[in-house]
Amino acid sequence: MKRETVKKKKNRIQTIVSRLAQAFPEVRVPLHHRNPYELLVATILSAQCTDEMVNRVTPDLFQRYADPRDLAQAPVREIEKVIRRLGLFRSRARNLKRCAQQLVKEHGGDVPAIMEDLTRLAGVGRKTANVILGNAFGIPGIVVDTHVKRLSRRLGFTRQDDPNKIERDLMELLPEQDWTGFSHRLILHGRKVCHARKPQCQICTLNDLCPSAIL
Ligand code: SF4
Repeated sequence: MKRETVKKKKNRIQTIVSRLAQAFPEVRVPLHHRNPYELLVATILSAQCTDEMVNRVTPDLFQRYADPRDLAQAPVREIEKVIRRLGLFRSRARNLKRCAQQLVKEHGGDVPAIMEDLTRLAGVGRKTANVILGNAFGIPGIVVDTHVKRLSRRLGFTRQDDPNKIERDLMELLPEQDWTGFSHRLILHGRKVCHARKPQCQICTLNDLCPSAIL
């Protein structure tokens, strides 16, 4: 197959940005939250866990620990009890407490709005940091989860496996203003249409733009 030039790839991804924006006009983080602290806690908990499950435990969690200071002082055993239903609750509880302690000690109880500061927090990698930057602070960030990874590869925008390298490849193809929305819409498209096992290429709005389409 003839190699696609970067210019053509950038044009193609822009058409995909528009199509996905039509298909999913509204993008919102499905994790319930009222402020950056709650979004941070919910996003840490959402690793290897569904958003629905996280939304079931966070109301109780946020009622008990309304801000990082409360969470930093809570006994780990008590946090474990609240999030028990999520699985891996021991390590998650330790991460939450440690993260809250860092927020209090190093950031005056606020969630930092800088990638390097966020990724120094316990339980926070680039994916979580990009969710916080994009949704709590309006700072563009590409969230590379399992859907974004799969779809970016199928759509021919990366050959990488490593999420950080995929993020970099997408950043080179997309203008900053599209980073947050595009990755959220790819996640929605991956959940609804481009499934891991059986992609629904016949009904996919991107099938004329996708090198992996099976029609
Ligand atoms: S055409 Fe198929 S493989 Fe390509 S994005 Fe759509 S569902 Fe996924």
